[in-house]
Amino acid sequence: MGLRVAIDLDGTVADLSRAMHDIAKKKFRKLQDADPAAPPAEGTEGALPVERPTLRDLELSASDLDRLWTHVLKQRNFWTTLDEMESGVIARIQQLADERRWEVLFITTRPLAAGATTQVQSQEWLAAKGFRHPSVYVVKGSRGRVATALDLDAVVDDRPENCLDVATESPAKALLVWPGSTDTLGPGVARHGVIVTPSIGAALDELVQMDRVKRGGVVRSIKRLFGK
Ligand SMILES: [Mg+2]
Repeated sequence: MGLRVAIDLDGTVADLSRAMHDIAKKKFRKLQDADPAAPPAEGTEGALPVERPTLRDLELSASDLDRLWTHVLKQRNFWTTLDEMESGVIARIQQLADERRWEVLFITTRPLAAGATTQVQSQEWLAAKGFRHPSVYVVKGSRGRVATALDLDAVVDDRPENCLDVATESPAKALLVWPGSTDTLGPGVARHGVIVTPSIGAALDELVQMDRVKRGGVVRSIKRLFGK
C-alpha cells in the first residue's frame, strides 16, 4: 500500500506570499518606490532568494496587513489565482500518486474569499495545475489531530509550528519545507524528528524515499510470514 500524505497549500505548493506582495505594491502606492535592496525583516534573512519577492520584504504594519487581507479576500475566487511555488510541482505530485499509488490530501487553513468556498477554489486551482479530483480539507485546529484521525504517513508543511503539531500529536512523519537557514529553527524541530527540506521538490524526494522503505518493510514482513 502506498503512502497516505497530506500536503499544505500556501507556502508549500502555492505561492501566496508572492501574490500578496504584488497586490500590496499596487494597493499601497508608497511601496512602489521601495528600495528592492532593503534588508529583509529581522529573522527572515536568507529565507528566500532575493529574486523572489515576498510579502515579508515589504515590512507592512499590522494595520496595513489587515487592510491588505480585507482587500484580497474581496477578490472573487482569489485562491484560484496563485502561482505554484515550483513550476509543475502539482503535476509532479499527481504523477507520483499515480506511479506509487499514494493517497494525497491537500490541507489548508485559508480564510474564505469572495466567490466559491475555500474548498472549491482550492480544488479548482489544483485541477488547473494538473491534479485530477483533488481532495481538499479545510483544517480548523490542530493538524496533528487530523494526521492521527486520517491515519496519515506524512504531512508536508512550510510552518515549523504545524510540523511540530504533527510530530508531537500523531504517528505521522512531519516534513518541513524550509528554504532558509536551519539556524533560525527552534530546537524542537530536530528534537521531535521533523525532516527539514529546502524545497517542495526535495520534500517529494524524501516522500519517495519513505515510500521505498515502507514497501521494503512490507516485502520483508511477507517473506517472514512465508518463512523465506
Ligand atoms: Mg502554509
